[in-house]
Amino acid sequence: MKIASRLVNFDACPGDPFKAVATPIYQTATFEQESAEQFGPYDYSRSGNPTRTVLETNLAQLENAAGAYCFASGMAAISAVARLLSAGDEILAGDDLYGGTYRLFSTILDRTGINVRYADACDLQRFAEQITSRTRLIFVESPTNPLLRITDLRALASLAHSHGVLLCVDSSAMSPYLQNPLDLGADIVLHSATKYLSGHGDVTAGVVAVRSPEIGERIYHVQNGEGSSLGPFEAYLLLRSIKTLKLRIDAQQANAARVADYLSGHPAVQKLYYPGRKEHCGHDLHFRQARGAGAVISFETGSFDLSRRITEATRIFRIRVSFGSVNSSITLPGCMSHASIPADVRQARQLAPDLVRLSVGIEDADDLVADLNQAFRRAAKEETAGLRVAASRP
Ligand code: PLP
Repeated sequence: MKIASRLVNFDACPGDPFKAVATPIYQTATFEQESAEQFGPYDYSRSGNPTRTVLETNLAQLENAAGAYCFASGMAAISAVARLLSAGDEILAGDDLYGGTYRLFSTILDRTGINVRYADACDLQRFAEQITSRTRLIFVESPTNPLLRITDLRALASLAHSHGVLLCVDSSAMSPYLQNPLDLGADIVLHSATKYLSGHGDVTAGVVAVRSPEIGERIYHVQNGEGSSLGPFEAYLLLRSIKTLKLRIDAQQANAARVADYLSGHPAVQKLYYPGRKEHCGHDLHFRQARGAGAVISFETGSFDLSRRITEATRIFRIRVSFGSVNSSITLPGCMSHASIPADVRQARQLAPDLVRLSVGIEDADDLVADLNQAFRRAAKEETAGLRVAASRP
């Protein structure tokens, strides 16, 4: 079956005598046992819950994985992967990463004796030079958040394996509908399910899907041992959302292509980042490893003030962090999702203060373009008015 079919064809309710077509929410913390020494398939929802099992089975199938594990957030999922390492080990991470991942790596993991080094994963030769005898895990996003940079995942997997290192890919910007990093050689694929997998801005969740059962057992041990697993209601919401993943992303991508066309011709846009455009660095590579461009677009105007005014002038694109929802949103990553990265590090990584990130939703494409158009106009007018006031001051 192709993925469009697999998104809706799965056993929603294994063993259910009533053959429900939607997975019931097993909203229970604990399960009664036959006797003190006899355990059923479930005993305690932190360790396992039937609603979460259906979701995890579904996600493992969608990622062609040996197993998938659902967590309370994307960050809890990343944290569980980091638990595969011990004090003295190193992570080599790509240098364009979600701000929260940077915060975990640089201000929390360092206290556990795990060192994280960063390098540009788009320059494989230089990246390879940063691997040391202590490196145990390579961690990258592709496309990255927020610069949508593309890493050669097949080449990175070969590089990692030639050094006996695991490769983990945060594929949140793609979802399993558009990209399957395990098929490209990665050992672990990770999602902030808060993004496209949810798609409705109503769930915070994370997924770790793994190539080998052995890594799966270790991830499960952390999920159960640390108690970071996803609750049954959120698992149910994700199961519901996943059924429309294709429809949502197809519509969002079509809208994103229109918005990117509009932005590419706008004189105020100095740099445009969207993997769907031929001129985007890594465009061809991206389409050799993914089935679509996604619906996140970033651009720079050259002026923080102008970018801020545009962001504040949009009406359909609402100001809020996160991406992947059916509703369009707009952010200034430097002040919002990536503010936890120190300003000097942001500058060194070319994360410009005037960078604007759009997440394109399923609204009417004409309305989205009109909204941006009026925002650019208002922002430019305010700038002219501001300049006039400044010029008239004695
Ligand atoms: N990975 C990426 C690429 C993200 O953008 C985010 C959040 O924005 C996360 C991970 C963290 O996920 P969550 O917010 O679900 O904890």
